[in-house]
Amino acid sequence: MTDLLPLADALTAGLHWLYETEQPADAWMSHHGQQIPTTVNRFLAFVPTAVSSLPVIVIGVVKPAWKEGPRGDMVPTNPLTPIELPRLAAELEQRGYAVRSTWNGFPGATGSVGLARPAHPSQIAAVDRYRAGCQEHPERSVFCECEAWRAGFGRAVAPLSLLTSA
Ligand SMILES: [Zn+2]
Repeated sequence: MTDLLPLADALTAGLHWLYETEQPADAWMSHHGQQIPTTVNRFLAFVPTAVSSLPVIVIGVVKPAWKEGPRGDMVPTNPLTPIELPRLAAELEQRGYAVRSTWNGFPGATGSVGLARPAHPSQIAAVDRYRAGCQEHPERSVFCECEAWRAGFGRAVAPLSLLTSA
């Protein structure tokens, strides 16, 4: 088990992963990116290639609780607070990562920050290999469960494995 990180440390780990970490040429990983839980019922997810092939960082409630809203839709009873998404964007700007845009956030359970600087090319390549699907079983695409397909995920370097090996 990895100990949970404070939010700022999770951000540091995720940014290091996104921009400095090289993925092996025979690894692949889901387009959903890597999620890091934190000590404060928030996760950060780092998505190497989302909008226009640029990275997105998502902040979200780890355990959202839901109730029926006024229009019959489900709304979280413990959403992000109004300042959390702007604060994350400001923190990224302060660390030198230009923000392209933000979306969602309060009163939702997740919010996203789009970054201007592309992720490490090997991170993007690993997602592209995932999108290409299993090469041995093209008909099963990304849903393949063969050993070769699963092994590629195992070769991908995760953000927290950097910390535990350090
Ligand atoms: Zn396969």
